[in-house]
Amino acid sequence: IIKFENVSKSFDDNGELILKDINFELESGKFYTLLGASGSGKSTILNIIAGLTDATSGDIYLDGERINDVPINKRDVHTVFQNYALLPHKNVFDNIAFPLKIRKIDKHEIEKRVMEALKLVRLTGFEHRRIQKLSGGQKQRVAIARAIINQPKVVLLDEPLSALDLKLRTEMQYELRALQQKLGITFIFVTHDQEEALAMSDWIFIINEGEIIQSGTPVDIYDEPINRFVATFIGESN
Ligand code: ATP
Ligand code: MG
Repeated sequence: IIKFENVSKSFDDNGELILKDINFELESGKFYTLLGASGSGKSTILNIIAGLTDATSGDIYLDGERINDVPINKRDVHTVFQNYALLPHKNVFDNIAFPLKIRKIDKHEIEKRVMEALKLVRLTGFEHRRIQKLSGGQKQRVAIARAIINQPKVVLLDEPLSALDLKLRTEMQYELRALQQKLGITFIFVTHDQEEALAMSDWIFIINEGEIIQSGTPVDIYDEPINRFVATFIGESN
């Protein structure tokens, strides 16, 4: 569903490459994780898919169509950011309905879809609650509901659980995974937490200094780390 061909990125004209010749092809309906240390280039990959930043060279495809020049709002992807990016003074309903309202969808249809999304993230009954009165995990669920409301082909999640405490984080890992399986859409999840990646993913890409240094199923990576770097990284516990 998403393909990168020889994608490189530099933030200045003759500066260092932040991404170096990235190639991958993602299948529809799977849970992918980009795992790597801070500064390795994970967010930059997501931002290129979302259209928030351009690749310096290479081609990006969504569902077979080259999307390098397709504007953000015409890409069938939605991002969940680390800080949730919700509208704090609005209520839960309005935050989730936002992507539908800007598309001028019928009021009754909006209501129906918001209620369905609330049910999926287990927030039924919270529709009139203000965002600023929610807990971290509840905010996270609202951000996820908003991301799936338009049934995008791909949901991008940039360290969405990192602000949560350990217990809630473990709970949300399980819920996110269950939601992805239920909806059958492609999730691309970013984390620097190897346990999280091993627990949640169908397929993991390990990113180091702008390169994919290993990719495979959690079992592959755990059993046969390709080099000492991966072994150390995977063996580390937070
Ligand atoms: P983290 O885990 O800390 O979020 P990351 O893996 O998401 O890290 P990126 O944000 O993709 O890393 O950044 C990769 C590299 O690109 C870093 O060295 C960063 O300093 C650089 N970088 C990112 N955005 C910009 C920008 N807008 N201008 C210049 N350099 C940037
Ligand atoms: Mg990042």
